[in-house]
Amino acid sequence: MYDTIIVGAGSAGCVLANRLTEDPSRRVLLLEAGPRDTHLWIHVPLGYGRLFTKSEVNWGYESEPEPALNGRRVFTPRGKVLGGSSSINGLVYIRGQPEDFDGWGIPGWGFADLLPYFKKAENQHRGADDWHGTGGPLEVADLPDKHELCDAFIASAERLGIPRNDDFNGARQEGTGYYQATACRGRRCSTATGYLRPAEKRANLTVRTGALVTRIVFEGKRAVGVECQGKIFTGREVILSGGAFNSPQLLQLSGVGPGELLQRHGIPMVHDLPGVGEDLQDHFYARTFWRCSRPITLNDDMLSLWRKAGMLANYVFRKKGPLTISAGYAAAFVRTRPELERPDAQIYFINFSTAKRGGVLHTHSGFTCAVSQLQVESRGSVRIKSADPTVQPAIRYNYLSSENDRRVMVEGLKVARKICTTAPMRDYVAGEYYPGEKVKSDEDWLAFCREVGETVFHPTSTCRMGKVVDSRLRVLGLTNLRVVDASVMPSVPSGNINAAVIAVAEKAADLLREEACGR
Ligand SMILES: Cc1cc2nc3c(=O)[nH]c(=O)nc-3n(C[C@H](O)[C@H](O)[C@H](O)COP(=O)(O)OP(=O)(O)OC[C@H]3O[C@@H](n4cnc5c(N)ncnc54)[C@H](O)[C@@H]3O)c2cc1C
Repeated sequence: MYDTIIVGAGSAGCVLANRLTEDPSRRVLLLEAGPRDTHLWIHVPLGYGRLFTKSEVNWGYESEPEPALNGRRVFTPRGKVLGGSSSINGLVYIRGQPEDFDGWGIPGWGFADLLPYFKKAENQHRGADDWHGTGGPLEVADLPDKHELCDAFIASAERLGIPRNDDFNGARQEGTGYYQATACRGRRCSTATGYLRPAEKRANLTVRTGALVTRIVFEGKRAVGVECQGKIFTGREVILSGGAFNSPQLLQLSGVGPGELLQRHGIPMVHDLPGVGEDLQDHFYARTFWRCSRPITLNDDMLSLWRKAGMLANYVFRKKGPLTISAGYAAAFVRTRPELERPDAQIYFINFSTAKRGGVLHTHSGFTCAVSQLQVESRGSVRIKSADPTVQPAIRYNYLSSENDRRVMVEGLKVARKICTTAPMRDYVAGEYYPGEKVKSDEDWLAFCREVGETVFHPTSTCRMGKVVDSRLRVLGLTNLRVVDASVMPSVPSGNINAAVIAVAEKAADLLREEACGR
């Protein structure tokens, strides 16, 4: 009998495992479907490219055919390993905008409520200030090197009136500058390395890997444990931290979800909760590729054995160089209409290019400039396709199903092109490699998005607060069952979301401790 069973050792699950076991009287069981995080590339920042395809550490989901993307299925990586998606993600550290959290409209979850948790989580290498904390488990640091091309990108954006911003997580997000990353001294900081590793020494924490939970066990409307590998583990409380696809899937498999869906799959109903798996949101993303007029990109480094060897030596001995970079190097957060009060598009700049994410780099000098929207109107769903827990659920993003989502992508891509064709960037550009000059009108840009657009891996809201869980993250209508992960966020924050998931889990841990003290 455990006090708390946590399903999923991802971004949220590892935070909970650490914070809850600070109380030595609470016995916690953490169950993770994937293996331990021993894979070498997990720990090298640029190694995320090597973890992109389906593997023992990546669920490698596929969406259903997307109606607005010419019926294409969208490949959807998710971490399946200690640290979850924080072990395979692009390491970009962005929190979102205050308005995102205030807009949730849930008492206790506004930006002012969450800021202390962003700070508590953080070990900001620039030091503490009103916006940042030090001494937390999550390492947040500047990338070790600046790059000539990134400097040019930033200068061109500034020339177009986009203000310089050296801290996207400070007083304002808008502007252009370098990203910070969740890494330190050349190594990734996942929640497994930051939070779980120190907690694993505690006698009150049990961690099991290779442990796929297949069902929540109920007595009436009370969760009493979980089924895993044919065994039942019992606990006073069960917390689902399986992420925005797997948490709703596990609820549905266990008889909690839309009645009609459960009936169709012959699953005995525990509680009819229509919101489970609905309201899926994600940031849509489209990449443009550019030819560079001089051999200063990572594409060039990869062509030469000498440069590769130099890169390796630079990494091993100095913890610097291309192996330390994250999925974004420089960025611009922009308003696609001047009358907007906050940015609605994120432009990613990176000094290499590859047709297929995780694939080989182009053999010419090249870079990537990509765009994703920030506030998303399109809504999708996650629904089981089978009562078999090993069958992935049906993921429907419904990207570009709102007029505004389509407009933001088109306008954002136009801004990206403008930056790349403005001096000093212009002087580095030999030409737009893809989509190239054939794309001119708004219709062309939209067609381009439909043809190539993909996920930037930020699914949320499938067990959202107010609809599936209450503001203490308890599943509505049931007892002793919570969800704590990206799925509870009522809407996707504006930017990369790992930091927000961690802040949500930090706050959830405090809520649980408060309740324990009240008992
Ligand atoms: C490729 C990629 C790149 C990304 N890049 C960035 C980035 O640069 N910056 C950023 O901020 N965010 C990024 N993200 C997003 C961010 O990492 C995720 O939003 C965040 O990690 C989600 O946390 P979570 O706790 O909700 O789920 P996850 O971290 O995905 O954790 C869920 C865990 O639960 C386990 N699990 C699921 N079901 C079961 C079950 N039934 N039994 C046992 N275990 C189970 C999974 O194996 C997994 O370990 C990226 C994500 C991906 C996939």
